[in-house]
Amino acid sequence: CGIIGYAGHRPAVPILLEGLKRLEYRGYDSAGVAFIQNKELELLRAEGKLVGLETKVNGRDVTMATSGVGHTRWATHGVPVERNAHPHKDNSGRLAMIHNGIIENFQEQKDWLIERGYTFASETDTEVLVNLISEGLKETGEGVLQALSWALARVEGAYAVALVSLDEPGVIYAARQSSPLVFGAGTGENFVASDIPAFLNYTRDVVFLEDGELVRMDANSWQVLDALTLEPIEKQTNRIDWD
Ligand code: GLU
Repeated sequence: CGIIGYAGHRPAVPILLEGLKRLEYRGYDSAGVAFIQNKELELLRAEGKLVGLETKVNGRDVTMATSGVGHTRWATHGVPVERNAHPHKDNSGRLAMIHNGIIENFQEQKDWLIERGYTFASETDTEVLVNLISEGLKETGEGVLQALSWALARVEGAYAVALVSLDEPGVIYAARQSSPLVFGAGTGENFVASDIPAFLNYTRDVVFLEDGELVRMDANSWQVLDALTLEPIEKQTNRIDWD
């Protein structure tokens, strides 16, 4: 299981696929990407090895998307089929999220959302979290950052997540709790991934994220925040000198 997010100036999808390939050693049963192109939030997902996802990508012109997220899944909640593969959209279709880990209290949160009229297309705990963020947009009346923080305060368990929103094209949000996540600072492009090799061909300046931290990035800026209070946290980049 692995995650990668890219926000920059180059076509994102090939960079996401390359990153996923470099995370293959972590093991997975399905894979997928989400990106915004022509004002549409698109998902491509496939069961099995990355070649299945690559085949889907090759059938498309994805050169206009300059940001997005990619995922390899190791199923914990729901069988390894395409409908359970990440990314998962919320009910509005405006958010897409990838997740490694397990949301322990997902059933309780799912029941709560179902009472509020939410429906689910997969068996995953992840789809519960992305809809909780959707509900957070309504509850807070604020933006994606506040809604993500609102939702993370309500879940228990382990996660590394990355999120894209049609309302903020070019922006990626990511957060972690007990699952690995590193940030890579490039020039005119930024990265987030489960592990450094995913983006080492593009940047060697890495920020190690801690539990409870959230990063907001676009092509030209990045900021680490406390996931719950949204207080900014000063972080140093570390130069990686291995190959
Ligand atoms: N719990 C999530 C799922 O079953 C994420 C699994 C993973 O870490 O890849 O879809």
